[in-house]
Parts: sequence; structure tokens; C-alpha cells
Amino acid sequence: MPRDPHYDILFEPVQIGPVTARNRFYQVPHCNGMGRKFPSSMAAMRRTKAMGGWAVICTEEVEIHPSADHTPWAGGRLWEDRDIPYFARMCEGIHEFDSLAGIELNHAGVTSTNRYSRMPPLAPSAIPVVGHDPLQAREMDMSDIRELRRWHREAALRARDAGFDLIYVYAGHQLSTLSHFLSPYRNRRTDAYGGSLENRARLFREVLEDTKEAVGDTMAVAIRFSVDELMGEQGFTSAGEGRDFIEMIADVPDLWDVNISSWENDSATSRFKSSGFQDDYVSFVKQVTSKPVVGVGRYTSPDTMVSMVKNGHLDFIGAARPSIADPFLPKKIEEGRIEDIRECIGCNICVSGDQSFAPIRCTQNPTMGEEWRKGWHPETIARKTSDDTVLIIGGGPAGLECARALGLRGYGVTLAEASSQLGGRLVHERGLPGLAEWGRVVDYRTYQISQMANVHTYLDSAMDALQVAEFGADHVILATGSTWDRLGIGRENPLGITLATDATVLTPDDIFAGTVVQSPVVVFDDDHYFLGGLLAEKLRADGNSVTYVTPATEVSSWTHNTLEQQKIQARLMEMGVQIITSHNLSQVSADEAVLTCGYTGAQRTLDCGAALLITMRHPVDSLYTTLLGANLPSLTRIGDALAPSTIAAAVYSGHLCARELGEPPSDGVPFKRELTALSSDFPTGA
Ligand code: ADP
Ligand code: SF4
Repeated sequence: MPRDPHYDILFEPVQIGPVTARNRFYQVPHCNGMGRKFPSSMAAMRRTKAMGGWAVICTEEVEIHPSADHTPWAGGRLWEDRDIPYFARMCEGIHEFDSLAGIELNHAGVTSTNRYSRMPPLAPSAIPVVGHDPLQAREMDMSDIRELRRWHREAALRARDAGFDLIYVYAGHQLSTLSHFLSPYRNRRTDAYGGSLENRARLFREVLEDTKEAVGDTMAVAIRFSVDELMGEQGFTSAGEGRDFIEMIADVPDLWDVNISSWENDSATSRFKSSGFQDDYVSFVKQVTSKPVVGVGRYTSPDTMVSMVKNGHLDFIGAARPSIADPFLPKKIEEGRIEDIRECIGCNICVSGDQSFAPIRCTQNPTMGEEWRKGWHPETIARKTSDDTVLIIGGGPAGLECARALGLRGYGVTLAEASSQLGGRLVHERGLPGLAEWGRVVDYRTYQISQMANVHTYLDSAMDALQVAEFGADHVILATGSTWDRLGIGRENPLGITLATDATVLTPDDIFAGTVVQSPVVVFDDDHYFLGGLLAEKLRADGNSVTYVTPATEVSSWTHNTLEQQKIQARLMEMGVQIITSHNLSQVSADEAVLTCGYTGAQRTLDCGAALLITMRHPVDSLYTTLLGANLPSLTRIGDALAPSTIAAAVYSGHLCARELGEPPSDGVPFKRELTALSSDFPTGA
């Protein structure tokens, strides 16, 4: 289908200094947990986005010198010429599709702990490093400043030699030495590099000029800048120094890439911020500069993109997460296939890869990070190898994705769902406060399979073993999900909690089934992801008196990985939820809960009308167990029915099963590995 002319504006070429972007889709720099550790994977992932139509594709943050080393995070590294080939590979993949390759050079100063290089970190003023490492950065003297300029210049020349088209001078996310100099709260200097904004901006201007002078007629030079640090007068604001800084050097760079604050705020999740949330902060930038402006805000709607360009707020639609969830988003708009866009749900599971030092993954896009090591393409998949029929039981994230991918392969698929709605756990979870966008996991897949003549969906169809056997499919795939434990069995209490027979004990399944809760409620979170904190929030919002208890030292502790922990805890505190950390729930009676301190073992009691236990889930696998005795030709379990986990893991499990069906089983490690080169020598004299 031809594209709607309304979207033509998104496909206009845009000049960025000496280079031209073929359209307005711009993948801003984003971490991916692969970087220098898994460079072939990183390069293939970026290449896939070029194939999908993004006109500009950037690296993650790239270290320029060992004095700012991010180990164990896996960013890029361009310390010496030997690092060039890794980036040359990425550029080659991007240029294959006429896109531009950008590199975000960075010296992270006081925000790097140098665990690999063991060099003292550098900062405008002496101060402990960010985080809790027992380490302080030393104040940079004039020779350090000269050296930093030299390192940046040399890295810029290496970037040019690698084949990049665009280079960043980076002052974003409070993560670079240049932004630390700019910042009034990190820079206590009294020399020409401290004090007034002009002085604090001196080093930035010098590095910008050095970079332009080194590469400016061959590459575009861009600035990435957080216009508002969300710290009020202590930091930059878009009405104050953030704006003053942009006015100061408005037309010096070839492009402004603008955002806000730290990564937590820039990559805010949908639970806390809606699409376009940064517009209020960055919309002024285009009034101040004549250079192109790129901004982000989880933009997935082409209509919103058009209005951002038409109303003069942005020249480029910047995206990290929307390009991860759908590397082919631009192509789908170009080809008039809007309804095929796989929209980001704003869950930050992608961020959790990088945060836990592992390759990226995505809830919506199971192929993300698998482009090289498994050869997975986000849009295409091998055709079926037989005319076998498939019965999938369970229409949650795992079953839906499996049906979609098998349908794409051309298999005849029947999807049977016991309830009257598709979505599994998401039927209820998408209705929790802030999780509406998570429903896109279901909506995307439901629409896709509705378009496939070879996929048939049956609701209100609870299948038992006899019906399955009678159905006679060549392959039976169980995606029957999981249920929450009722005895408190989990990490902290492997044998369960002492529960009196007259105690009111509930699980999330009861809340979803509409059980009315008797205040005061004790929410016991031994799961540590989003659900415990979110149910406490919901029950409080419903007017209950709520105490949140967890053996962890903070609320929803795993959500550090999704950059939400601080926001979640703050919200519960503001709502008046009582929070008790580092305590186990040991006993529940009709009106009391007994808590045990994780450090001293001391016990205390709480009034408790009902205890809500969020501890672990059990696979719903009784059908599987029965069918094991039925001698079916092919029987598989996927998703939570196999091992309860995240929605991302369920989608991945369904996708993997669809890819593998009818293919020869893999022998050994089920993906290609990237091995570090071994040196040929031992040290002499040591
Ligand atoms: P996952 O995350 O692995 O997809 P969910 O719990 O979200 O798991 O979804 C499982 C789905 O399977 C639910 O919608 C449930 O109603 C359905 N289901 C469970 N048992 C049966 C069955 N015997 N027949 C049909 N559907 C079933
Ligand atoms: Fe979006 Fe979630 Fe995928 Fe990240 S993991 S790109 S937030 S859907």
C-alpha cells in the first residue's frame, strides 16, 4: 500500500552540516549491553535498523580514554587505533542501506569508577565518584584539561577513520566530564573554567572547536545536551542556564540532540511518563538555533511525529526504545503499513540488559540482540518445512507470539484460549495503574494473527487432555501460564509461611479476580519486580490502609534495572503506604502478621486484616503432565508454563519455539559466541 501523503514530511531529506540524512528518523545513541564486549552483535543490531529505514543510527556512549572507563558496563571503547575495526564494521553495515552512522564520544569523569584501568577518575573539582565506590576523583589541572582535549581530538580522528558521518560532543545525562564542568553543582573551580556560565562552558567550547577543526568538513558535529536537569536552580533548567547555554553557541554545532536530566528521567517508563513528555522542556530549542534539532519521547505514532515537525518543535524524530521495539518502524510508515508497527510499551526491559551487564533484550521485539548470534531478523522468518498442523493452548504473551511467528512461517495454527479474552496475565495487568501501554503486547499480536488466514483463534475454549488428543494436531504447544503461590513459598521462605486457618491470605490472582480486600492489608513482596509495589499502590489508591513488607532493603528492588526504583518508592511514600524493608513475613493469623528482622531476627507484629503474598508462581502444567502419557507426536511447553518469568521472557520463549519448530535440533551452544582474542605470549620476567 502506498504511504499516506500526510506522512511525506517524515521522509524529507535533512542536511546536517556536510552530510544529508535521507529522512527524519533518527536513532539517538543508546546503550545495549553489547558494545565492546559483543561487537559483532552490536554491529548487526545497528545494521538491522538501517535496513528498517532509520536515516541516522548512532553508537552508545563510547569511551575515549582509560581515565574514564565504565567497566563492567559494556559501552563502546575507542582508546586506540586497535579499536577502530569494531566501529568500522558497524559503519559498513549502516552504509549498506544509505544511512548515516553517528558516534557519541564520551569522557565520563566522576561518573566512571575505572575498575579496569585503575586510574584515578578526573573531575572539575575533587569529589567522590558517583555511586558508592570508595573512590574520589581528583581535580583536573591545566595539563589535564589539555590532555582531555587531545584525547577527544584523537578519538574524533579515529571515529572519522572508522567511517562515521556524524560525531557527538556529549554533555548529556550528567554523565560526561564536559557536563560536569558545565554544571554549577559539580564545578567549584575559581579559575577560567569555573564560576560564570561562560567559564564553565569554556572546556565544552574548546572541545567543540577542536572537534570541528579536526573533522568538521568531512563529518557533522552534533551536541547532545540535557537542557533541564530537573534539579531546579541547583542545575540547568530549560528556562534558565539550559537555554542560556544553547543561545551561547546556538549555530556552532551542525545539530542539537536535546533531552532532559539523567538517564532515569530521559528514559522514563510508561508507568510514570507518557509519550512526548519531554516536549515541554525542549520545544524552545528550535526557536534559538537555525540548526536541525532532534528530540526523544517514546514517539511511536506517525501522526504525533508529523505534528512535532509541523509545529516547529523538532526536525528529527529521535528514538532509542521505539527503534528497539520496531527496527522497521520507518519502513512500515513508508510502505503504508501503520498498523504493523510494533510499538514500544515503555517497560525498560531493554535497559535492564545493560544495567545487569548483559546483552539487550526487548519485551516487544524478541529478535533484539539476536540479529548476529542467532541470525534472527525482526520481520522475516524461515518458511515452514512441512504441512504439519499446530495446536497452541493458551493466548497469553507466549502463546500469542508463538502463533504469530508460526503463522508468519506459513503453518496452519489453532490457538485455543480458555477465557473470553486474549492476553493471559496481561488481561489484568494492563489495567493496573500506569500499565495501559503494556497492553500493546497483546494488541499488536492479536491484530497480526487476525490478518492471517492460516491462524484460527478460539476463545472460551478450555482444553483438556481428551480434547487435545482428539484434535489430532501434529504439534501441541502448551502456553498455559502460571498461578501465584498461596502458601508464601518463595526466595525467603522456601517451605512457606505459617498461616493460621482463619487468616485471610490473598494472592495477585485473587485481586485480579475482584476479591474485596479487608484493611489493614499487609503486602508481602518477595518477588521484587513491579507487581508487589504496584498492587500496594493500587490497594492504597482504592482507599485501603496498606503496609508494604519486603525482605529486600527497598521497594521493588529489581526495578533499579528498569530505572524505576526511586520513582516507585517515592510514589508509595507519597501515597501514605507504610514501608517496612529488610523484614520477612513469618506468620499470619486472623488479625495479625508477625514480621522478622532480616538482620537481628527480632520480631514485631502488625495489625493485618488481609495478607497479600507476592512470592512465586507455579507453572500451570497439569495438562502437560497428563499429555505426557498420551504419546502425542510432539508436545512442548513455553513461557510461564515452562518457567515463570517476565513478559519479555514469555514472548521470547514463544518466538524461539516458533523458529525451532520443524528445524533440526541445535547441538551444543544454541547461538554463535564472540570470543576474546588470546595473545600468543606470556609476560617476560614476571
Ligand atoms: P504466558 O506469560 O506464558 O503467555 P499467561 O499466564 O499470560 O502465560 O497466559 C496463559 C494463558 O493460558 C491464559 O490466558 C489462560 O487462560 C490460558 N490457559 C491455561 N490453561 C488453558 C487450557 N487448558 N486451555 C486453554 N487455555 C488455557
Ligand atoms: Fe520498549 Fe520495553 Fe522494548 Fe524497551 S524493552 S524497547 S521499553 S518495549
